[in-house]
Amino acid sequence: MAVSVTFESVTKRFGDTAAVDGVTFEIHEGELFFLLGPSGCGKSTALRTVAGFYQADEGEIHFGERAMRNVPPHERNTGMVFQNYALWPHMTVYQNVEYGLNVRKVPDAEKKRRVGEALDIVQMQEYAERSSNQLSGGQQQRVALARALVIEPDVLLLDEPLSNLDAKLRDEMRQEIKRIHGEVGLTTIYVTHDQREALSLASRVAVMRLGKIVQIGAPREIYAEPDNTFVAHFIGDTNFLDGRVETNGGGNLSVKTSVGQVRCDARLDFAGGDEAVLSIRPESLRISDAAEADTNSYEATIIGATYLGSIEEYEVALSDEVSMRASVYNPGHVEHHPGDRVYVSFDASDVVPLRRPDESA
Ligand code: ATP
Repeated sequence: MAVSVTFESVTKRFGDTAAVDGVTFEIHEGELFFLLGPSGCGKSTALRTVAGFYQADEGEIHFGERAMRNVPPHERNTGMVFQNYALWPHMTVYQNVEYGLNVRKVPDAEKKRRVGEALDIVQMQEYAERSSNQLSGGQQQRVALARALVIEPDVLLLDEPLSNLDAKLRDEMRQEIKRIHGEVGLTTIYVTHDQREALSLASRVAVMRLGKIVQIGAPREIYAEPDNTFVAHFIGDTNFLDGRVETNGGGNLSVKTSVGQVRCDARLDFAGGDEAVLSIRPESLRISDAAEADTNSYEATIIGATYLGSIEEYEVALSDEVSMRASVYNPGHVEHHPGDRVYVSFDASDVVPLRRPDESA
């Protein structure tokens, strides 16, 4: 049965460090929810607090209506998958998956049925009698998933489950996790520092920094509408341009920068005189031989070009101090070379004015 998981002002300290610092948010029933952030931001600690391996110093975690403070880990009915799989090497695949049911004293016939179903879901039936140390990394991760699913957990917890796999297998397992989540519909909390994993799988993502949650939203929301420069930079590539707001009105925000005036769509949270850091994604930049009318367009010099087939990545200098990265899709036969004078253009709707996160927060 899927349940919601709620954090209410949860703090977990290690000595003077607040690894999780007063966070409040709710994970809905059946969500594939991501905790995303750089190393040390507190995401594993948050996950382990849900599992009950750590006790919150302050605040409370609820599964549905139930407060979990006094519930020990083995009574929380969570299934956990670790980065290093943590399979028992001397056991077969079948025995690894069966183990959790032995501990729960599940009758033999039901045990057989449930192990069979779990191995089916992860497509490992044919390896049931294989020793777990004779499996590839991807296969071991499938068994680890089956072992977590077989106990029919209320919440599935995944701690960097794909980071030990090579890039191709990671892509494949990503799709597998999406499929399995779709099939079983469990509330799943997935910890990673890999923004691609989060963008491609999540129903919602919480971006963490220094023990706090800086933004929660659907992948498209946090990519297109980041709340501050930290989120914009962490979720994908972007260019930053410092400026000061000149005017805000008539559907337009006009920002003065060292390369000239930049127009953005109007924003309620900025007023004339405010400092703004403009975030402009590389895929929003267009490169041409002539200036574009009625949009943001600046003269620039190509300083680097990398052809990658489906995409060409340019480094362009708009001035001695300001350079930007531009990704041109389907580059075809148009070539720009270092030293070429060009124009760089981007639409007002692709410029996101931001503030830097409060360093003292
Ligand atoms: P990573 O991706 O590197 O695992 P993370 O975002 O999961 O990082 P945590 O492991 O939750 O971060 O760590 C958050 C902070 O708490 C860090 O400053 C870390 O050094 C500290 N920390 C975590 N576990 C412990 C512990 N058992 N004892 C002391 N400090 C800890």
